[in-house]
Amino acid sequence: MRRKIVAGNWKMHGSKGLVRDLVGAISGQVGSGSLDVVIFPPAPYVSYVAKMSGGAVRLGLQNVSEHDAGAYTGEVSASMARDVGCDFVLVGHSERRQMFAETDDLVARKVEKVIASGMTAVLCVGEVESERESGEAEAVVERQVRQGLADVPTDRWGSVVVAYEPVWAIGTGKTATAEDAQAMHAAIRRVLSEMGAPANSISVLYGGSVKADNAAALFAGPDVDGGLVGGASLNAEEFLSICRCL
Ligand code: PGA
Repeated sequence: MRRKIVAGNWKMHGSKGLVRDLVGAISGQVGSGSLDVVIFPPAPYVSYVAKMSGGAVRLGLQNVSEHDAGAYTGEVSASMARDVGCDFVLVGHSERRQMFAETDDLVARKVEKVIASGMTAVLCVGEVESERESGEAEAVVERQVRQGLADVPTDRWGSVVVAYEPVWAIGTGKTATAEDAQAMHAAIRRVLSEMGAPANSISVLYGGSVKADNAAALFAGPDVDGGLVGGASLNAEEFLSICRCL
C-alpha cells in the first residue's frame, strides 16, 4: 500500500494570521483516514502550524542545508527541521534548481541528509517547456530521479517520495493532461524499480497548478498517489476540496 499524500507548498507566503485562518479551517477536516496532509510553510512558521493544527497535519520544510551545523549564516539543517517536528523536506524544487542553482549532485546530498535525520525526502523533478516540446521530458526526469536518489541506502527507500512537477505547469494555470501525468509517473516508477527500489511502495505525487477542479482527474491515474499543491494550498476551501479528491 502506498501512502496517499496531499501536500501544501506555501513557498514564501504566509503570516501568523494566515496560519491561524487556514490551519484552523482545515485541521478539523483532515487528519483521520489514510490520507497524509502535509504542510510546508516558510521555516519560521513550522512550530506555529504544529501548534494550530493540533497534530492534524504533518509538517515539512521547503529546503534544508547540505551541511549539519556550523558557520553557514542563513541556513537551516535537516536535524533542526527534525528537532522542531518536521517529518518531510522538499528537495530540488524547480524554483531552487532555477533560482538558487541547485544541481542534481547537491540535491542528492540534501536527500541523504534528510533521510539520515529521520525524515522523508520529497524529491521534486520535472522538465521545462522546451524539454517537453523537444521530446526530452522523460530523459530529463529520469536523470533527475537517478542522480537525486543515487545515494539512498537500500534499506531507506521508505523515506523517499517523488513529486513530478513539470516546470511549465508551476504557477501558470497549465497542467499536464491526466494521461501525460500518468505516463510520467509510470516512467518514474520504472526507473525506481531499475534502481533496485521497492517502486510499488514509493508514493509519486503530481504538482503544477493542481486545483479543486482538476485534482480528481489528475489523481485518477493508477500511479498518481496525490499532489504537491502550491497556490491552491493557500486557500482553505480549495485545499480541502483537493484533499477530498483522493
Ligand atoms: P502551483 O505550485 O500549484 O502553484 O503550480 C506547485 C509547486 O510549486 O509545488
